[in-house]
Amino acid sequence: MEEIIVKTSIKIEMIDITGEVNRRIKKSGIREGICLIYCPHTTAGLTMNENADPNVVRDILNGLDRLIPEDQPYLHAEGNSPAHIKSSILGCSTTIIISGGTLSLGTWQSLFFCELDGPRTRSVWVKILEG
Ligand code: ZN
Repeated sequence: MEEIIVKTSIKIEMIDITGEVNRRIKKSGIREGICLIYCPHTTAGLTMNENADPNVVRDILNGLDRLIPEDQPYLHAEGNSPAHIKSSILGCSTTIIISGGTLSLGTWQSLFFCELDGPRTRSVWVKILEG
């Protein structure tokens, strides 16, 4: 298993980790297979979406804020229930096909680590399988 360390700098942000995962695939020497990416945190997540227009990322984060407002009567005493809910909506793992030694993503797709309760130092686990 590979581990990618992601240092986030603000409360909520999306960080493109496509290149970092592709570097791990290149290092493995595997040309065809699958890559499992896992986020072992309860207030962070993973998603794939557009990185060409940075407004798409802003709209996603703003949309999540509108869906899950901060000023609700949450029960969790830590005070970060919105981040926990957003994490469950986004999900904590994804599997992407490896072809030609790289992640097979759509033209406009990138893989994002989503910080929802930062800033923190986070981990992303990567398992690369040949096949
Ligand atoms: Zn909490």
